[in-house]
Amino acid sequence: MTAYTTTRQPLPDREPVIQAGILGAVGTRHMLHGPFGRAEQPDGSLLLTPLSADASFTIPEVRIGIGFHWERIEPQRFHGALRIHPDGLMVNEVALEEYLLSVVSSEMKATAPVEFLKAHAIVSRSWLIAMLEKGRMGNGETSHSAHTRISFDEEQDCREITRWYDREAHTRFDVCTDDHCQRYQGISRAASPAVEQAVRETRGVVLAYDGKVCDARFSKCCGGATEEYSSAWEDADVPYLRSVSDTDVEGYCFCATDDAGLLASILNGYDLDSPGFHRWEESLTQDDAATLIAGKTGIDVGAVVSLRPLSRGKSGRVTRLLVKGTKDSLIIGKELEIRRVLSPSHLKSSAFEVIALGKDSRPAKDGQVPERFIFSGRGWGHGVGMCQIGAAAMAARGAGHKSILNHYFTDAELITLYR
Ligand SMILES: [Zn+2]
Ligand SMILES: [Zn+2]
Repeated sequence: MTAYTTTRQPLPDREPVIQAGILGAVGTRHMLHGPFGRAEQPDGSLLLTPLSADASFTIPEVRIGIGFHWERIEPQRFHGALRIHPDGLMVNEVALEEYLLSVVSSEMKATAPVEFLKAHAIVSRSWLIAMLEKGRMGNGETSHSAHTRISFDEEQDCREITRWYDREAHTRFDVCTDDHCQRYQGISRAASPAVEQAVRETRGVVLAYDGKVCDARFSKCCGGATEEYSSAWEDADVPYLRSVSDTDVEGYCFCATDDAGLLASILNGYDLDSPGFHRWEESLTQDDAATLIAGKTGIDVGAVVSLRPLSRGKSGRVTRLLVKGTKDSLIIGKELEIRRVLSPSHLKSSAFEVIALGKDSRPAKDGQVPERFIFSGRGWGHGVGMCQIGAAAMAARGAGHKSILNHYFTDAELITLYR
């Protein structure tokens, strides 16, 4: 395993400006509210810069939720500058804290405990600044979304397909305003006072390790222990993304909470009737399993004889899964690929046990083609970094944002980049 290295760069000492591409904008219509300067740029783009702090602009038609069933067109209003490229691409150049306020507001509920909101603001800010540093260094690696490695496993005598996914980087701006990056709607919706307080009181604060801003990650629910970086992404050892047990000294697991009030206060659109996430169960019929595996991997293994975890990360997430079929076998990884292949959308996590059932719902015998596979799982998401439900439960029990971040990001420190 290689050490996780990035070229050392001086840390930013002033608030960065984020370039947000408004990809859903229909045409280039825009309305200015207040005074704006107008300047043609050497690259042919037109830059409209606000001349007063409260100046803003509206894009009357922005398509949101592109590709989702709730796709619709709405007007959106933004602070900051507007750059219109010659081909019509519109980019909002906005101060990082303003951007953060908007994305944390659309992701988090205002009713969540404020120390949890502060911890989240710091995690999101750290991720964002680490992403800017990586992207702006012209590191070509960030432009690919799927990384695939195909090899042959001598022991199992079959092919192994290892795949992991990165956020696909944009080339002409840092982030898009759609869900592909993080939903950003400018100032179209008022930020809640609680989120505003959390962002304001942590202004410029990031997680840092060894003089660099941490590439901080988070997921919904670790399921009992957090996962290491290499189970979800490249084979790198990231010192501040180690597996930690998500429990207090008495063994109480933070994210095992069944406090419906707390869950409803933190999760947007949380459905109280939805099945659990700390512990959950899914099942696939033989036909579904064979069809999904063939469709998603492009390899027809025939009937599925067994699904056997070959290795697991420290949280119990399966990172290599042996799919044994009547015609062919293959090994798949990493965690997201396994979740993707075994479900029409995604399994909640790859921390599962597989139970193969034969006739009469009895455990399938060796060599028998099972009729059904049951996945008995825990956790929701990749499990790396901060566990959102665990962090909110810690805050609800009185923990401050510093001890929450200390718990999930081992050895990282909090530093203030700018005031
Ligand atoms: Zn994007
Ligand atoms: Zn957890």
